[in-house]
Amino acid sequence: PDRSVKYKRILLKLSGEALTGDHDFGIDPKVLDRMALEIGQLVGIGVQVGIVIGGGNLFRGAALHAAGMERVTGDHMGMLATVMNALAMRDALERSSIRSRVMSAIQMSGVVEHYDRRTAIRYLTSGDVVIFSAGTGNPFFTTDSAACLRGIEIDADVVLKATKVDGVYDKDPVNHPDAVKYEHLDYDQVLSQKLGVMDLTAICLVRDHDMPVRVFDMTRPGALLNLVVGGREGTLIDV
Ligand code: UDP
Repeated sequence: PDRSVKYKRILLKLSGEALTGDHDFGIDPKVLDRMALEIGQLVGIGVQVGIVIGGGNLFRGAALHAAGMERVTGDHMGMLATVMNALAMRDALERSSIRSRVMSAIQMSGVVEHYDRRTAIRYLTSGDVVIFSAGTGNPFFTTDSAACLRGIEIDADVVLKATKVDGVYDKDPVNHPDAVKYEHLDYDQVLSQKLGVMDLTAICLVRDHDMPVRVFDMTRPGALLNLVVGGREGTLIDV
């Protein structure tokens, strides 16, 4: 990779909602195309990119459960939703001539490959973008936990959590104009101040394995590339 590159292997977490664009449900191919271009810029400078994609734009287990469905069935639907998002993302990447693979934590022969860590690392090393879908494969988890888990497993340099705001604030910046952004937080601050960056399972996992997390605004074009080459973007969470 380029010598200016700070993070040589990243795990990028995209929420399902990020794929809806101006709509409130489903997938907007235009948004995917823009993301594909930004990811392609990273691949172009030699960065290895793993992606975990959420499913909240389609189904969430907790929401289905609140509406009366059995929770585990709802979570299975949520995980399948992440596979659909992953297929759409691969399609956008391939249309931009970026080689990519989808792996699923749930076996789905004929549609996507089953997740295998060593194979994933081989793909990453050879320059393919790897999209990890179906979360952890287990109900009661989130794709934030899946992102932290896969990030640790593939020995990523950082987990990048893409959001709509440029980091973590002491209160919701949308409703509070005086909200203050944190440049840096340690894991225990996130836990004790209940900052709601990610769920507790995810935060505990990265803390136990010293995996840094950066929360940044992916809706701003160029932010992803800037932070990978060492720019100050969003909030860094580490020890
Ligand atoms: N899910 C799950 N196990 C996992 C990851 C996800 O059961 O390991 C289910 C869960 O129901 C969740 C849904 O998949 O609500 C979609 O994932 P998530 O809510 O994390 O998506 P995001 O909010 O990032 O779009």
